[in-house]
This record gives sequence, C-alpha cells and structure tokens, in this order.
Amino acid sequence: MVDDGVRAQAALHRYFGYESFRKGQKGVVSAIMEGRDSLAVMPTGAGKSVCYQIPSVLLPGLTIVISPLLSLMRDQVDALDDAGIAAAFLNSTQTFDEQREVMRVARDRGCHLLYVAPERLTEPHFVETCRHLDISVIAVDEAHCISQWGQDFRPAYLDIGSFIAALPRRPVVAAFTATATEKVQDDIVRILQLSDPLLTVTGFDRPNLFLDVQRMSKSEKEAWILRYVSDHADESGIIYCSTRKETNELTDRLQSEGIRAARYHAGLTHQERRESQHAFVNDDIQVVVATNAFGMGIDKSNVRYVIHHNMPESIEAYYQEAGRAGRDGEMSRCTLLWNESDIVLRRRLLQSGGANDHLTEEEEMRVQQTRGRLLQAMIGYCRTVSCLHRYILDYFGQRRAGSVQGERASEEKSSSPASSGDESTSMQSEQSVSPLPCGRCSNCMSSVRSDDVTKIALAIGRCVSATNQRFGMTMIVRILRGSQSQQLLQLGLERTPLFAALKEQSEATVRDVLNQMTIDDLLAVTPGRMPIIVFGTEASRMVAPGFHYEIKHAVRRKSARKTLA
Ligand code: ADP
Ligand code: ZN
Repeated sequence: MVDDGVRAQAALHRYFGYESFRKGQKGVVSAIMEGRDSLAVMPTGAGKSVCYQIPSVLLPGLTIVISPLLSLMRDQVDALDDAGIAAAFLNSTQTFDEQREVMRVARDRGCHLLYVAPERLTEPHFVETCRHLDISVIAVDEAHCISQWGQDFRPAYLDIGSFIAALPRRPVVAAFTATATEKVQDDIVRILQLSDPLLTVTGFDRPNLFLDVQRMSKSEKEAWILRYVSDHADESGIIYCSTRKETNELTDRLQSEGIRAARYHAGLTHQERRESQHAFVNDDIQVVVATNAFGMGIDKSNVRYVIHHNMPESIEAYYQEAGRAGRDGEMSRCTLLWNESDIVLRRRLLQSGGANDHLTEEEEMRVQQTRGRLLQAMIGYCRTVSCLHRYILDYFGQRRAGSVQGERASEEKSSSPASSGDESTSMQSEQSVSPLPCGRCSNCMSSVRSDDVTKIALAIGRCVSATNQRFGMTMIVRILRGSQSQQLLQLGLERTPLFAALKEQSEATVRDVLNQMTIDDLLAVTPGRMPIIVFGTEASRMVAPGFHYEIKHAVRRKSARKTLA
C-alpha cells in the first residue's frame, strides 16, 4: 500500500500545484486520513481548506464541509472546480430542484465535497438523506462559531453534534478556525465531542507585522489617514471603519483628494461589492475603505497596511482584520486609531445590539457578558504600554482556565518564556517572542510616561457616591468640571459637593481617568440603554489608606516617530 503521506503530497501537487505542505497541514491531513479527529487553529491564509480538501479526494466517502458563509461556499466550490476536484454546495438561494439535484449528485458519488450551512443540519429531509450516504469526513469551518465565548457565536453550530450522532457510522470530524482562545478551543472539542483530537495550533505570531496603536481625536484620525495613504501611494491598503456611514464618508474624502479608493460594506449591491473587491485584488485601486464585511475569503498577499479607523469589538476581530496585511511575509503595518468615544460607542452597541432571536434570556445575558469581556481585552490592547505582540500572544495563549484571556496581560508579563514544544500537541507552540523591546510595535518604540491621577480618581469616586450612583459618564464629567448645561442645572446638580472640583482638568483627562477606573474595576458601567456609572468590585481600594492611582501613556520618541512615518 502506498503511504498516505506520499499520496497526500502527490494530490497536493496534482490538484493545487504546490510542492510541499505548509506548517501544520501535513499533520492534519494525516490525522484525517487515519481516522483521527482534529482541531486546527491556524491563522487566516495559513491554508486550512487544503487540510480537508486533499483527504476528500483520497478517501472513499463524501466530505461534508460545514461553513457559515454562503458567499464563501460558492467561491470555494468554483476554486475546487478549477483545480479539478468535484464539489457542490447546498444553500437557501438554490431552488428546490437545484437542491434535489445536488443531493442526487452527492448520493451518486459525483462529488468529493459538499458544502452546507449549519442550519441545514436540522432539516429532516437532509438528515435522512445523509443517513444513506457514505460520509468519510465532517469538516467544520469557522469552528469558533460554536462557542459562546467567541465573538461569532452561531446557535446553529450547536446542532452539529447531534447531526453527527444521528449518522449510522461516525465520520472523522475535523474542526478549523483562525481564531480561538483556549477557552474556545475547549468548547469546540467538548461540544463537537471530538475524540482524542489532534490539536494543531500554528503560531499567532506574525513577526512581519508592525503593530501600531495611536490615540487621537476624530479629526486627527482623518488627517492622519489622508497623510499616510498619500505618503504610501504605491502600496495597497485596507482601512476598516465601524459603520457604513463612516465608510462612505472616508471613501468620499479620500477620493476628493485624488486617491484611488473604493468602498465595501454590506449596504452595497452584490455587484458593487464585487467591483470593489475585484479592483482591489487587481491593484486598480490603492486602498479599500470597508466595514468588517470585507475580507472573509480575500486572498491578496501584498496588502502593506491595514488601518483601523475605530477600535473593533474584540482582539479576535482586530487580529483577523489586521492580519490581512503582509500575507506575503513582507514587513507591513497595522495601525489602530482610537479614542474614548470608540469605547463609548462599542459599549453602546454592546448593550443595544446583537439581540438574537435564537437565544433565551439567560443565554443572551451570557453572550452579552462575554462580549463585554472581549471588549475589555480590546480596550486593554489600546491602553497597554507593554509590547503589543506580547499582548496578543498572551491573549491567545494564556493558560489560565476560566479567566479572560489577556485582560490583564499588560500588567502580568509572564516570567516563563513560552515553551516551544511539538507543534501538534503544545498549545504554546511557536509562541515564543523575542524579548522586549521587540522593535516591531509602537509601544516598544516609545517610552512610557506615568501620570499621578490619584486626586482626580478620588474626586470621581466621591462624585459617584455623592450622586448615589445615578448618572452616566457624561453627567459625572460635567458635574466635576462645573458645566452649566441646562440638564445639569434643571436637576440641581450644581449643588453637588463635588461640583467644579476638577474645573482645571480637561474633559479628555477626566474621561480618561474615569475609563481607566472602569477597566480597573474601581467603577463599573451598568448594562442597559442608559449606562450608569456605579462602584466596581475593587471600589474599596479607593478608601483604603495610601490609595494611589496612575495612568500610563506611551510617548513616542522623536526618532521613532520619524522612522515610522
Ligand atoms: P485559510 O482558509 O487558512 O485562510 P486558505 O485555505 O484559503 O487559507 O489558503 C490560503 C492560500 O494559501 C490559498 O491561496 C491556498 O491555495 C494557498 N495554499 C494552501 N496550502 C498551500 C501550500 N501547501 N503551499 C502553497 N500555497 C498554499
Ligand atoms: Zn513590542
């Protein structure tokens, strides 16, 4: 019998024209061929699809690929067609007859791979048909969607387990994701009931990315982007905005400056989106301004920079989007521009949005809490004065079960260097990062300044207390700065003992300290449409003797600023 590895290598060459497997691929392919379950966590662009596509042509039965994105299914099937691998997909945009035809092809072994959305797995007719198919592999793409700890929880993913259990013979199950903290990895293994899975975690480290965080006002952001894009006219870049409106405005602005820019968001027609994508991939335009709708399945290797115009909702989201830079291994820059109002906006979105019909109230609550923690870690990334690469590796690699990965990473520099074990079994494989300063992030190129803000923090604490924890951030800042706003005067708040206690301080400073206090749990923000500032779990620290409070800022060194510009 010819060795599986040799056959796999030959198939890789024959169908895809590649000479060798990339890191991690070979192990996953072998596991699937041997009938062993697996979970592969590999960054976007690492080549996850090949891991199940190669076995699909070598194994006798069908490979069912569960994928959450309709548009991606079609792309994948087209690409497989080109490669000479018979594949089909089943989705709700097809007519009944088309769907029946696809199932007939699958039954007659006319295709190696069948792509379906998770929602399909509870359809009785589909389940019944599958019971009579010879299925070798179930590949679960974007497997992190199964976890309520992840940002993209899809309730339909929870049905995958019972679908598999209902099959007369259990196929090999292979799960794939680009982004999963350990907690999410555990969930995937548990909920999919993977048995003794091969765990492959290829590194999250992207040494060719220069990570850059800059705090600035909205108008500064725009000026910064305009300058950066003009100064890098011969490079390809992506600018992510948080809303369609912002995307449109920024695109118009760039275009009015003569920059070849296109927009991409879910509010455009399918045709318009395709045009933008096409123009970008073919270098007809220089930069694409987009919401997070852009990027899934985009395979452009020479993206030299990714700028975030706002702070995203989680580190997962950020790293996935920023990680679209530098796929070719060349040095590329990922800049995150943020300010306090980003945090306010994200908190508001968190509290109002994301309502999901499929969830019970309790689940909804849990999802919201999770989102809150993910956001907190994202805020931590913006605020940390330590190495940004380190922060991200800690976030994904931290081994402390039940805690929020990375939340405090800035303060807890792990003392033990990450071990470099066997890639397939060690969670921390390839997570070693060079000692500080890394030279590849804006914090390591900056010096740190600490400001003593004890007095401000105490005034804020007293104000929250004096107003009986009844007001939101804006009102507290107004009281402390002695604002004469109508609303404030109507409520008689100018009689609060702390009124105007911080009139010497800028609004930004007071907000800054207040935000920092919520991050440190001295204060907390209540959920709801009108978030209120209340005392947090650490509030007693403020009344303890010797209370001292500092805020750290990364201050760019002059020379650094010049070399980075
Ligand atoms: P992922 O799903 O992990 O984001 P893809 O499966 O889309 O990544 O693969 C990204 C790109 O890398 C594709 O263009 C794919 O053809 C290519 N690729 C995959 N495996 C290899 C390999 N062994 N050698 C060279 N290129 C590869
Ligand atoms: Zn660094």
